[in-house]
Parts: sequence; C-alpha cells; structure tokens
Amino acid sequence: MSEILVLVEQAEGEVKKVTLELLTLARSLGTPAAVWAGPGITPEAKARLAEYGAETIYVASSSDIVDHVVAPKAELLAQLVAAKSPAAVLVAATAEGKEVAGRLAVKTDSGVITDAVGLGEGFVADQSIFGGGVNVHSRVRRGTPIVAVRPNSTAPETAPGAGAEEEVTVALTDAARSARVVERVKQQKGARPELTEAAIVVSGGRGVGSAESFSVIEGLADALGAAVGASRAATDAGWYPHQFQVGQTGKTVSPQLYIAAGISGAIQHRAGMQTAKTIIAINKDPEAPIFELADYGVVGDLHQVVPQLTEEVTKRK
Ligand SMILES: Cc1cc2nc3c(=O)[nH]c(=O)nc-3n(C[C@H](O)[C@H](O)[C@H](O)COP(=O)(O)OP(=O)(O)OC[C@H]3O[C@@H](n4cnc5c(N)ncnc54)[C@H](O)[C@@H]3O)c2cc1C
Repeated sequence: MSEILVLVEQAEGEVKKVTLELLTLARSLGTPAAVWAGPGITPEAKARLAEYGAETIYVASSSDIVDHVVAPKAELLAQLVAAKSPAAVLVAATAEGKEVAGRLAVKTDSGVITDAVGLGEGFVADQSIFGGGVNVHSRVRRGTPIVAVRPNSTAPETAPGAGAEEEVTVALTDAARSARVVERVKQQKGARPELTEAAIVVSGGRGVGSAESFSVIEGLADALGAAVGASRAATDAGWYPHQFQVGQTGKTVSPQLYIAAGISGAIQHRAGMQTAKTIIAINKDPEAPIFELADYGVVGDLHQVVPQLTEEVTKRK
C-alpha cells in the first residue's frame, strides 16, 4: 500500500494526540509514515508513533527546521513528496498545520483540503462549512492530496507499526530562512487539556453572568476532565480570557462532547463547535437556537443545572 505522510505535532518531545489520530486515519487508507520536523525526538516519542502504526519515521533533526517559523516544514515535506511519492500528506488542521499545508500545496503544485472532519476511500474528505449548514465531500484532483484534518475527528487506535527510523537532510532555501524565531515564551498551562485537543469541552456564554460565575463552568469541566471554552459575548465582557473563545473568530473545536451552557447558538459560535460528536445545551430559553443543533437539551437555569451535573459526575467517579 502507498505511503501516507503524517506531519507530527509535538510539544517538548511529547507527541500530541492529534498525530495519533492522523496515524489511525492514515492506516485506514495506506501505510502511515510519520515525519518528525526538528530536533528532540525521544525513544518514547518513537515508540508512541510506532504504537499507533507508523511504519517509517522520517526524522529531520536539524534545528534549522524549527528556527525559521513554518516555511522549513513545508520544504521538508515537499522534499519527501518528491522523493517518496506518497499517496497523500496529512497534517493537523491547526493554525500552523494549515499554513504548512498551503505552502506545501504551492510547492508541489497540488490540491489542498483544510478543516476536514473525515477522510475516506479515494481520499474523499468531509468538511462542514458555512457555520455547519452544509456538509461537503471533496477530493483533490491535482498532484498529491494534502489534507489538514481537525483534531478529534478520529478516535486514535493502536496497531503497532515497524517505526523504522530514516534520517532526512533538508536543503533549505534562503526564502525559508527569511523569518527567524528570536524568542519562545512558554504559555502558562493549567491542569486542563488544551482546548482544541480536548475530548470534552464545557463552554459558558453570556448566561453565566459574571467572571466569578465561570467557576461553575470550570467545576463541571474539572469533574469531566474537560477543557473550558467561552462564547464571544463572555470573552468580550472580560469574564474569560479570549484565548478560550470558541467560534468563527476564536478556536475551532471538534470534541466527542461539547456542553454549551448559557450560549444562544449564534452562527458564529456554531462555526467553531458544530462538528462536535455530541452536543448538550443548557439554556433557560426553550426557543434558543442552540437547541436546534443539540443532541440533548436541558431547559433550565445553568446556575442550578450545572452544579447538579457536576455533583452527579463527581459521585460516579
Ligand atoms: C464577525 C463576527 C464574528 C463573531 N465570532 C464569534 C465567535 O468566534 N464566537 C462566538 O461565540 N461568537 C462570535 N460572534 C458573536 C455572536 O454573533 C454572538 O453574539 C455570541 O456568540 C453570543 O454569545 P452568547 O450565546 O454567549 O450570548 P447571547 O446570544 O446573549 O446568549 C446568551 C444565552 O444565555 C441564555 N441564558 C441567560 N441566562 C441563563 C441562565 N441563567 N441559565 C441558562 N441560560 C441562560 C439566554 O437564554 C441566551 O440564549 C461573532 C460575531 C460577529 C459579527
């Protein structure tokens, strides 16, 4: 079966869950090969990639790859596409992944599909567009299919691969070196999972009422091991930091479970969450548009419903 390249997303040597998802997806369509861009691959990371099906791990360990923003990653992949003629290239549909995908498409004269939520036979991708109003099935017709897949689109499954390591040397162009990373500032991270990667997201909106009351949302999130999200109304009011905003102008999430509390379901909010597998809405207005989208709905005051839910979840742990 033809090789499918998967660009590895990692943080300090730890392989991110989305990469395991992409390897699982790649396995259903061909032979997965992981591409590690930059220094710092560890034996644990190699073992993890092999555990999820990587037959080959291409390692480009030059620090140049990570010292010049995203362009070198696109050049690395373009070089591998030329050398290995893979059936497809999969990247995570993160901000960086999508930029790499776009640059790679130009370099290889190929078609690119972004924000796929599924990928099937013949590399036909599923996308959900116009705020979730339209589902699109699309296929690249030119060059090597390059597909950016949203985190949480596939459940990662183990199926050991050989994990054979192959060192790759990349000859970067001057253009790829034109922007240099001069400083890295580590983001303060709490104990909660990263919003775009989390399997469960609990979001609060204007109905939460104040910054202090977001502790109700956080309480449920912590009981479920979930990430916290917020509507733009809540972030604009200063109740929750903007980095947690879900929607058209915020983050796009695609978790297994999305709980929207005190959120009306405006189209711009839906755009960021409507591909969640299961949606639960808690809203005191039975006519709130979010109920049109929800799999389960609770009509009630979130300040009563959410603490009860948290208590029940905690009891069952
Ligand atoms: C260009 C553009 C981009 C945008 N991008 C985004 C985006 O990325 N993300 C985003 O979220 N929005 C975005 N918006 C804003 C969007 O249009 C809505 O204004 C916003 O999503 C509303 O947030 P909300 O649902 O929290 O507030 P509201 O629409 O005010 O809804 C609050 C809901 O809470 C319910 N409620 C109130 N009190 C309670 C209670 N005690 N218990 C239970 N329910 C209660 C109400 O019944 C209501 O349904 C964008 C708008 C524009 C124009």
